[in-house]
Amino acid sequence: MQQDRTIVIGAGAVGIMTARALMLRGKKVTVIDRLSGPAEFCSRGNAGLMAVGHAKAWAEPAALPAMMRAALGREPSVKISKLFDPALWRWGMEFLTQCTSRASAANTRKLQRLARMSRDMLLPAETAMGLPGETRHDGALYLFQDTPQFQSYAAKIGSGQEIEVLDALALIELEPGLAGMRDRLAGGLRSHIDSVGDCHLFSARTGAWLDREGIAFRYDTKVTGFTCKNQRISAVETDAGPMECTDVVLATGVETPDVTRSLGFVPNIYPVKGYSGTWRITDPGAVPQLPFVDETELLAVSNFGDRLRVTAIAEFAGRDLSLPEKRITLLKEYVQRNFGKGVDLDHPEFWAGLRPTTPAGPPYLGRVRAYDNLWINAGHGQLGWTMSLGSAELLAQAMTDETPVLSDVSATAKWLAAL
Ligand SMILES: Cc1cc2nc3c(=O)[nH]c(=O)nc-3n(C[C@H](O)[C@H](O)[C@H](O)COP(=O)(O)OP(=O)(O)OC[C@H]3O[C@@H](n4cnc5c(N)ncnc54)[C@H](O)[C@@H]3O)c2cc1C
Repeated sequence: MQQDRTIVIGAGAVGIMTARALMLRGKKVTVIDRLSGPAEFCSRGNAGLMAVGHAKAWAEPAALPAMMRAALGREPSVKISKLFDPALWRWGMEFLTQCTSRASAANTRKLQRLARMSRDMLLPAETAMGLPGETRHDGALYLFQDTPQFQSYAAKIGSGQEIEVLDALALIELEPGLAGMRDRLAGGLRSHIDSVGDCHLFSARTGAWLDREGIAFRYDTKVTGFTCKNQRISAVETDAGPMECTDVVLATGVETPDVTRSLGFVPNIYPVKGYSGTWRITDPGAVPQLPFVDETELLAVSNFGDRLRVTAIAEFAGRDLSLPEKRITLLKEYVQRNFGKGVDLDHPEFWAGLRPTTPAGPPYLGRVRAYDNLWINAGHGQLGWTMSLGSAELLAQAMTDETPVLSDVSATAKWLAAL
């Protein structure tokens, strides 16, 4: 008789958290990744924001004119560099259907519920694994350099227990590291419901903990196909040979369409490129301690203790991972202008990553209808770290016949029995 063995394909933040949730339910798990360690692809250089206050679907009525401007090269933070890409057209057509106020509100609600569930799980998970205080839970700031933009946001949100509206002076009093932006700040929001932490480090440490707890990791191993029998996957084919399994989870980010094509379905996940720069902090008093999103210039800034990370740009460029000088310059200039006195400007590290993005925004989460034992947890877009613990928990609940504590959180598709 075949031994119980769940294979999780993908050791990004999502795959690692999925393996953990399954292991905690007594499953024997093997994680396979084509790269040499945990979180080496899109989960490597992100902003690390567990951004509950920012969990919002990109597809909304205002996205239509923004996409038109981007196509004409007139949108500073959204770029369309590979317009004649069939995958982009397929994605774009579905994105259009999600831009109504109604669809946008429903998708945002799904993202927010997943984000909040994850954030609530983060600190207990860290404590249970004995990780050394990787993450911080004192919130995040959303800053505005444009007064009408700030006033319209502030009027919509209003001050409350979870999110406070602050003027520029109050912001600098709260966060003296923003003093370099004093002349430009119009105001901002302080969200008390966000956390921050280095997603790569957290995933790597979780991976090491899982390894000690008995989860098997097969790195440098690429999944090339599947052996199927009676609507079941009986083995995963890899470049190191076949591996038998009782269940399979796809946590394969932007590569999910490549992995599933031979199985007869192609999830609509597009790689939306983003960039980050990381600087060594030389004067902690001259950089902000709280993470923030600059809503006017559309950059995110996170302080990881010894390093300051700045991320920006959503670029539709296919699978391109190059680092063009013009994109890097945007990050460099921002840091120099605002925090030049607090970091080592001479030795930054730049990185590009591909956000696995569904047209609606929420990830594909659930069982693939055509197979009794094939599951998916992929397509988390700009919020993969933010939603990783919650989506992993819900999928593991479904896979072990528990009733998932949340429902109606997944993107929908004909091929998916969506959670
Ligand atoms: C600039 C930038 C900033 C961001 N900031 C934030 C942020 O502040 N907060 C947030 O929540 N999110 C953020 N994100 C998004 C977040 O990084 C992603 O959503 C998340 O990393 C996706 O995780 P994943 O595990 O699904 O994918 P990945 O990390 O890409 O992992 C997928 C894994 O599958 C493996 N794989 C694929 N195909 C195969 C195969 N055939 N065989 C074996 N292995 C395979 C890959 O090697 C890879 O390791 C940001 C992204 C970018 C680019």
